[in-house]
Amino acid sequence: MQHAGVVVVGSGQGGFQVAASLREQAYQAPITLVGEEPGLPYQRPPLSKAYLSGKAPPAQIELRPASFYVERNITVMAPQRAYQHLVLATGARARMPAVPGAGLKGIVSLRTRADAEALFALLRGSQRLAIVGAGFIGLEVASVARDMGLDVHVVEFADRVLQRAVSTPTAAYLADALTRRGVQFSFGSGAMEFNASRGEVTGVVTTRGDTIPADLVVVGVGVEPNDELARAAGLPVQNGIIVDAHLLTADPLISAIGDCARYPADYCALPVRLESVQNAVDQARCVAARIAGKAEPYRKVPWFWSDQGDNRLQIAGLAEHSDEAVLRGDPACGRFSVFRFRAGRLMAVESVNQAADHMTARKLLAQCTPLTPAQARDPCVKLTALAALPVNASKETA
Ligand code: FAD
Repeated sequence: MQHAGVVVVGSGQGGFQVAASLREQAYQAPITLVGEEPGLPYQRPPLSKAYLSGKAPPAQIELRPASFYVERNITVMAPQRAYQHLVLATGARARMPAVPGAGLKGIVSLRTRADAEALFALLRGSQRLAIVGAGFIGLEVASVARDMGLDVHVVEFADRVLQRAVSTPTAAYLADALTRRGVQFSFGSGAMEFNASRGEVTGVVTTRGDTIPADLVVVGVGVEPNDELARAAGLPVQNGIIVDAHLLTADPLISAIGDCARYPADYCALPVRLESVQNAVDQARCVAARIAGKAEPYRKVPWFWSDQGDNRLQIAGLAEHSDEAVLRGDPACGRFSVFRFRAGRLMAVESVNQAADHMTARKLLAQCTPLTPAQARDPCVKLTALAALPVNASKETA
């Protein structure tokens, strides 16, 4: 029987991957990718890295060339009414705080290729950049902007960088590295108001009463999931479209994946909504496999990376409610990992310039290999050997 096909709403990282994986699974029916941004599907991570610094041309950030879609009979951008299954892969949009003056010229956020192109031009014409929010995007933009010679000042409500995402040692290392490159930080301090002259931003007034002069402001204070379509369809939504372990919404004909979806992750008390390429890609593969007849619950270990100048941070797992952080390696040498435990159980590993630790951590977490804090701390314990052992054997050595 010929199926009516699959419509994917959102042609970003996850949407693209659903279409590509369906064809890999030999799915024959029509596939339509409906996007709202111009051009072919592209990847977002370079937008705050090589693309923003002008080192990557547009074609390099496209996920595949036009011929890929033609050869696989994947229709990009043309809506189709009848479908067998609908995938919502609508992503998220940058949050803009309700601060007086937020609409001024020179205050921008970074989510799309168009945002990155506009920001690149602004960076070239500016001298003083203020960044609101010391999250991943704020720190990556700070790094690129310092390379371009701007004065950079980051304002952050919390008392350190990456408060939600990483442990204290990792945050301290990354903040130090940027400080040494000339980035200034104001912690415990939020943007309260933006000053302007002739409609253009001139500074950020902080909740501490300081004014940080700036001719350009980048706001990086998180995202809001694009869940309007799901709401309109009457699907349950709460900080993301609620899906089950198979990434199905309350409607068995509609799946949701990537930045817009909230799913029940192993070892997390509440469903989570993750914002990473791995999450979008692996969830897309899971949904494509189900549509093609190979249903399995979604159980991938989350992982993430961030590049800040010469430093590469990689995170495996989710450190939610972790109660112990064990340092392995030496931050002074610029290479280390932080193993995060909850009640003695390994939850996540943050690796800075330690790709081997990261790959091993992904294996340990995927296999649920037991690892004690003492083992993680002991440089004589070979983690690669533990990861290679069958789980029962590694229990004996633990
Ligand atoms: P998206 O890629 O955002 O795609 C969603 C698409 O849906 C968008 O094109 C949107 O316009 C479209 N859309 C929304 N609503 C509709 C509608 N109603 N109709 C049609 N189309 C619609 N992750 C990492 O792991 N490592 C990194 O280093 C990293 N760096 C990043 C840097 C930046 C600047 C940004 C913005 C993100 C970064 N990320 C990184 C996160 C990663 O890119 C996202 O998690 C990933 O793109 C999510 O994929 P997605 O398909 O869920 O959403």
